[in-house]
Amino acid sequence: MSSIELYRIKKRIEEAVNILVVSHHDPDGDALGSSLGLSLFLNSIEKKTTVYNRDKCPEYLNFIDSSNLVNSIENISDDFDLILLLDLNDFERTGEDMSIYLKNTQTDIIVIDHHQNPKIKTNFSLIDANSSSTGILIYNLILSFGQPINNLIATLLLTTIITDTSSFRNSNTNSEALRVASELINLGANMQLINSSLLNERSLNKLLLEKEILLNHEFYSDIHTLISFCTTENYKSTNTTKEQSEGIANFLLNHKEVKIGIFIRQISKNSWKVSMRTDGFINLSLLANKFDGGGHKNASGFSFDGNIDYLKKLLRERILYEQQNPTS
Ligand code: 5GP
Ligand code: MN
Repeated sequence: MSSIELYRIKKRIEEAVNILVVSHHDPDGDALGSSLGLSLFLNSIEKKTTVYNRDKCPEYLNFIDSSNLVNSIENISDDFDLILLLDLNDFERTGEDMSIYLKNTQTDIIVIDHHQNPKIKTNFSLIDANSSSTGILIYNLILSFGQPINNLIATLLLTTIITDTSSFRNSNTNSEALRVASELINLGANMQLINSSLLNERSLNKLLLEKEILLNHEFYSDIHTLISFCTTENYKSTNTTKEQSEGIANFLLNHKEVKIGIFIRQISKNSWKVSMRTDGFINLSLLANKFDGGGHKNASGFSFDGNIDYLKKLLRERILYEQQNPTS
């Protein structure tokens, strides 16, 4: 990320009065921490903001105050003079309604993101695929205003780092993430609150769901890939939702024989959501792109309409091909 980009975006924000902040649907700690943290900052410099997400704050992030989050496009007015898209690089990631809104709007759009292969063309953007979280880019942007960062904003931004690095354990953890986390703690970020909330979110129903998911596991030793899936029936019988299967793909990867962990969640009869994780074995962002999805080298995802056995067959074939003909 260059300081020129940062300066241009700062200037554009300074000109704006009424700003719409949007992050990806099914928000995680980075999507919510970045958008709510930035919004708090913008309010402190007298900007009016609306923070939109298609979905509500998941239960495991309940320590975040999301009372101002708008979940319906009907509650969105039309008089914004700037739109900020955070932690996404494809309109589709905002959900169908917002995606249509964004395609039709004349308002300037700024993308602030850390995913690979951006699919949105804008005059302004702050994209750094080496950044561990979008929240780190937001931190640098706020610093460029030379304004103090209060403890609430610091906690939200620290959340983005802790969740996107899985508590500094993923390979995307770099020295900048550690430095910014340390600076945020100095600014009053409540790491204790974040850690204890994330650790204590387990329930016995979640354990039962995990049992069902593990019964569905298949290991393909030729491609070192562990795949597991969860049907809508599995969620129903354990009285759980997709939130309780958050983190399963990481868990699958955390076995010494496994180089790719893939978790497939059923959305409806013939519709599936795929989450993939690796640690440098192949480029999963490129693999997800082949299925019209995206993400990072080591963590990516996509949606798939069709039969799950066919989906698994396609995944097997493409991973095998990628393993034999690696692209960067
Ligand atoms: P997760 O597996 O946690 O849902 O997502 C892993 C990463 O891949 C995230 O950075 C997320 O933004 C990205 N990702 C997941 N699903 C999709 C998708 O359908 N499209 C795109 N473009 N990115 C996705
Ligand atoms: Mn992120």
